[in-house]
Amino acid sequence: MDKAYDAAEFWSRDQIEATQAVRLKNVVTRVWNGSPFYRKRLEEAGVTPESIRSIADIERIPFTTKDDLRSQYPLNLVIVPHSKLVRMHCSSGTTGTPTAIAHTQNDLNVWADLMARCLHMVGVTRDDVFQNMSGYGLFTGGLGIHAGAERLGCMTIPAGAGNTKRQIKLVKDFKTTVAHILPSYALILGERLREMGEDPRKLPLRIAVVGAEPYTEGFRKRIEDLFDMKVYNSYGLSEMNGPSVGFECREQNGLHIWEDAYLAEIVDPATGRHVQPGEVGELVMTTLVREGMPILRYRTRDLTTFIPGECPCGRRHMRMGRIVGRADDMFICKGVNIYPQQIEDVIMQFKEVGKNYLITLEDDGLGDLLRVKVEIREECFVEDMRALQGLQQRIARRLKDEILVTPKVDLVQSNSLPVPEGKAVRFKDLRGEK
Ligand code: AMP
Ligand code: ZN
Repeated sequence: MDKAYDAAEFWSRDQIEATQAVRLKNVVTRVWNGSPFYRKRLEEAGVTPESIRSIADIERIPFTTKDDLRSQYPLNLVIVPHSKLVRMHCSSGTTGTPTAIAHTQNDLNVWADLMARCLHMVGVTRDDVFQNMSGYGLFTGGLGIHAGAERLGCMTIPAGAGNTKRQIKLVKDFKTTVAHILPSYALILGERLREMGEDPRKLPLRIAVVGAEPYTEGFRKRIEDLFDMKVYNSYGLSEMNGPSVGFECREQNGLHIWEDAYLAEIVDPATGRHVQPGEVGELVMTTLVREGMPILRYRTRDLTTFIPGECPCGRRHMRMGRIVGRADDMFICKGVNIYPQQIEDVIMQFKEVGKNYLITLEDDGLGDLLRVKVEIREECFVEDMRALQGLQQRIARRLKDEILVTPKVDLVQSNSLPVPEGKAVRFKDLRGEK
């Protein structure tokens, strides 16, 4: 069995659940006393702190939505004196009022330990050099991951996002063995290196922590093959601190959720009732130990499943599957519900497909037109017209089988699609735009 980072990592189910019951009552008591917003919500639902006796009582507590957090922006949900706050982060949403989360020093310590536990779980040690290739600033993937790597004792390089040449120089000069990187950028980095005549497999990288945006199993394989390293999925959201919420172990079969700190549920998005294990639903999360700004039953909008059964790694913290989509990501084309992930799943199976793609929904005057622009590897783009047309048709046919709508597939040259600084933009609805 792996050595534990701390005692809670290998707690039994009984220990986990007993602790959760105590911590749930505790957090409800604290917001009851400290937050007029939650006090009112709980009173309206007939919930008092005394009435919380077990974790099953969670279902009596009302949900908190993104709009609730916005309505309490910036700091109305803080329940400690503001002088105790030492940091704030925001979610990466690009529209409307952001959601802000404030932390006490104790909150940051707990978060760093949870993050260190994640890295330790996949075999990162103090002898590793850790390069954080994600944006710093308000985004939690910067300072959040950084603190965990430092806490574990890695020499940690705050490289920040983008700038391929500098990233590679740092990797080579400091012999970086572990990187944190967005999936979209990982593929771009690897392919650019190849285009520059370098072999990414020769770099000292052995592990990459990859998350912050959805990606498919096929995408993971691509990154692993490109760099000859292990890729572990990292899930988090700023409302629950950020990274450290869900993290794969070495089995690479589901992400353990640290249940001593986060209480996770999966509900049917329409009814709000718990789904059966193995069924897809919306992840709902409660902070069990956050001091400055606790959040009860947050509707993440992320769709996933709980994986039934025990993980062979010996950890009993439950596992969730890869995020299959966000309730917000789904779009409707010709009356069919489609998730961008379904499209990625198909196109990543074609070896000619390069490092970037973009899905757009347009109005061609007759109705919805689904266009999938796919970058093709440099070496395939020089092939003759017929070969390219054949590829285009094969991709379109396979997509039609998966999503039931025939898309227009455009094969485009490497590096021609836009690359955002932060999270990838995979879908744009251009209907109504001229
Ligand atoms: P933010 O709070 O701005 O960092 O955004 C959090 C959101 O990013 C989550 O609610 C997910 O939708 C998405 N996300 C983060 N990590 C992953 C991951 N490993 N897989 C899929 N989506 C992710
Ligand atoms: Zn495991």
